[in-house]
Amino acid sequence: MKVLVINAGSSSLKYQLLDMPAGEVVAKGLCERIGIDGKYKYEAKGQKLTGETPMANHSDAIRFLVSMLLDKENGVITDMKEIEAVGHRVVSGGEKLYESVLITAESKKAIEECIPLAPLHNPANLTGIEACEEVMPGVPQVAVFDTAFHAKMPKQAYVYAIPYEYYTKYGIRRYGFHGTSHRYVSEQCAKAMGKDIKDLRIITCHLGNGSSVSAVNGGVSVDTTMGLTPLEGLPMGTRSGNIDPAIVETICEREGLSVKEVLNILNKKSGVLGVSGVSSDFRDLCDAADQGNERAALAIDMFNYSVKKFIGAYAAAMGGVDAVVFTAGVGENDKAFRLQITEGLEFMGIKVDPVKNDIRGKFADISADGATVKTFVIPTNEELVIAMDTEAIVNK
Ligand code: ADP
Repeated sequence: MKVLVINAGSSSLKYQLLDMPAGEVVAKGLCERIGIDGKYKYEAKGQKLTGETPMANHSDAIRFLVSMLLDKENGVITDMKEIEAVGHRVVSGGEKLYESVLITAESKKAIEECIPLAPLHNPANLTGIEACEEVMPGVPQVAVFDTAFHAKMPKQAYVYAIPYEYYTKYGIRRYGFHGTSHRYVSEQCAKAMGKDIKDLRIITCHLGNGSSVSAVNGGVSVDTTMGLTPLEGLPMGTRSGNIDPAIVETICEREGLSVKEVLNILNKKSGVLGVSGVSSDFRDLCDAADQGNERAALAIDMFNYSVKKFIGAYAAAMGGVDAVVFTAGVGENDKAFRLQITEGLEFMGIKVDPVKNDIRGKFADISADGATVKTFVIPTNEELVIAMDTEAIVNK
């Protein structure tokens, strides 16, 4: 079965066509600047194409990507009917949508009801769903939620210490994100250890532009660093992560800004960008730090220190830890970050071998001999999880 996986943003749309159950990616691409001037990237059969094409909306983008998949020269299918199902990444499923669902009028309404929890993402995800309904009528579609894997957190981990009515009235609680990634790498970790995930305590570190750490106990996410929104937790590329909430009022008063404006700063101009003044991209930061930029070095130190603290916290939360996993852009690629984060954690049995750690972007057991806690690098694959869930639900 060929499954089209769609990740729709407000003006972009990433996609992969996977052959299931093998999980082979037969084509992938990106439509950008939808509603502006329309740019695309397309990759199949070892060829990479880029170009421009007008895309007034997401339906145009879907029509265009299907035409690429059908293209005589560079396409990979001969009939649209070969696409037997579509899986969508949806950011928030709130409290009700705690596992992947078939798209129906009812589930679409439920996704709509979660818009207040993900005002930037869910509307774009819905637009992607509706565009597919228009262009590929009758093809079953499935929604896979970023929040779903965290839906079984215990209440003590997800309720905020603010008046309880805000939780019951408005659903203000920790939801967590990157769930599909934390789920995938924790499952892969158990496989690599040859153990049942039910018997393992795993700390998964998804470190990219957006970053989060999760405590996965017995296959269940029991805590995670992101909260009501992806702003909480670690300092990230441009997001502040945890700060004293009173800082918001202080900046409002000193700078004459509204709460909304300060939140925009906390989301888009903070994190390692804000501290370094250099870049939100960790590669740029490393270059700047190497050239002696002290604020870039400080931003890197702050990031790694924060990840280290959560590893300690989550080991405590689970009464121990059996494995630590690094994934996503920084986690998979940057050996220096992995070393710095794990340095000093020997007391808990975590020790990385610098030679085994000298890899990038591929699976590796980087634990030093004698370490009682395993440390792995595991490339994440959210599209594969979305395709697997989609296939399973459609075949039901
Ligand atoms: P997201 O999906 O959140 O946008 P990614 O997981 O793709 O982010 O991670 C992007 C980050 O990973 C960027 O800051 C980038 O600098 C960093 N990154 C990618 N490759 C490397 C590398 N080889 N070394 C260090 N950092 C890297």
